Amino acid sequence: MPEPISSSLTHAEILFWLRETNPARLDELFARADRLRRAAVGDAVHLRGLVEISSHCRRQCMYCGLRAGNSALRRYHMTAEEIRSAARSATRFGYGTIVLQAGEDPALEPSAIAALVAWIKHNTPLAVTLSLGERSCDEFRLWRQAGADRYLLRFETSDAALYRTLHPALTPGEPGRIELLLALKQLGYEAGGGVMVGLPGQSYESLASDLETFRLLDLDMIGIGPYIAHPATPLGSGSLRPPIAPAEQVPATESMVCKTVALARLLCPQANLPATTALATLDRASGRKLALAAGANVVMPNLTPPAYRSLYQIYPGKACVEETAEACNLCLLGQIRSLGRFAGRSSGSRGSLEAPPPLSTSSQPLVELQG
Ligand code: SAH
Repeated sequence: MPEPISSSLTHAEILFWLRETNPARLDELFARADRLRRAAVGDAVHLRGLVEISSHCRRQCMYCGLRAGNSALRRYHMTAEEIRSAARSATRFGYGTIVLQAGEDPALEPSAIAALVAWIKHNTPLAVTLSLGERSCDEFRLWRQAGADRYLLRFETSDAALYRTLHPALTPGEPGRIELLLALKQLGYEAGGGVMVGLPGQSYESLASDLETFRLLDLDMIGIGPYIAHPATPLGSGSLRPPIAPAEQVPATESMVCKTVALARLLCPQANLPATTALATLDRASGRKLALAAGANVVMPNLTPPAYRSLYQIYPGKACVEETAEACNLCLLGQIRSLGRFAGRSSGSRGSLEAPPPLSTSSQPLVELQG
């Protein structure tokens, strides 16, 4: 089987790598993705401040702890002032982007979101990413006109039957997420898709197709994290078991996630790829670092006020829930430096190449001598 050297992997090559388990061979794959990451998007790691603005949700996704049917979860909305304050913190920490994420919450008024986006764009240098679930094209347009730059909407799996089993439609015939991603791109958003790795019922074949779908959609951002079972969901409790032969089932492991990240980098060299919090949840000590060394170039420090953080429980045991925004910031900066990389200072849009920061203070006298 030929080794991947470019972004033109065949379906068979993708499948081969997804099934590879030899550590030395995998190290080669990760190193290849790391080299391509460096050539295509440089050594900057972009920090996106994540603000989880509401935990209310009208959907019944079989995997997600925010699903409407989870009556045990206490729900919250952040106030507009709390969100503006989080945006000020993101600016103070030097993050280039703020991500406003929520369950699919109809109480988030389109005009109120537009006003918040406009306020952030007017009062801060931040790029604004929205991740508010499936909304109408009119809403997407309104928010884009208010200044929103990017929209995250993972398509979760490209297997249409599995998607509808795990992500029931609210109304018959509603568009799928892949269709919505195309609409978002048409509206001029940078569009972010992505999948969970190791969803029950997800085969190697379908994960290979997910990767090909990233390339086909020419996504600007690709979020890839492990599926983590939530006991208060049909999928997590085991009451729903999509049929699949055991040899075909993709495992929800750190190694599978890193392979998927590396292949996504090879297929979509210019895309922004986060080292996800879900991966850090599987391996707190090194999950993010492993993904950053296998093609990822983004991390998402949490800026949700501590009182709400544990309530935004899409899956249990989430990493970084107990930490303050300051601690999260310092920890991530330390991880970035330990890899010989630097924190991006620009908004880090797709394909941007940022120069490393100026030399440290110890070299400044030389600059003065040179006039
Ligand atoms: N309502 C928004 C944001 C949802 S949370 C939306 O639907 O787009 C963001 C992502 O968390 C989801 O897209 C999904 O990929 C991921 N997620 C949900 N449940 C999860 C679980 N049990 N394990 C891991 N990731 C999960």
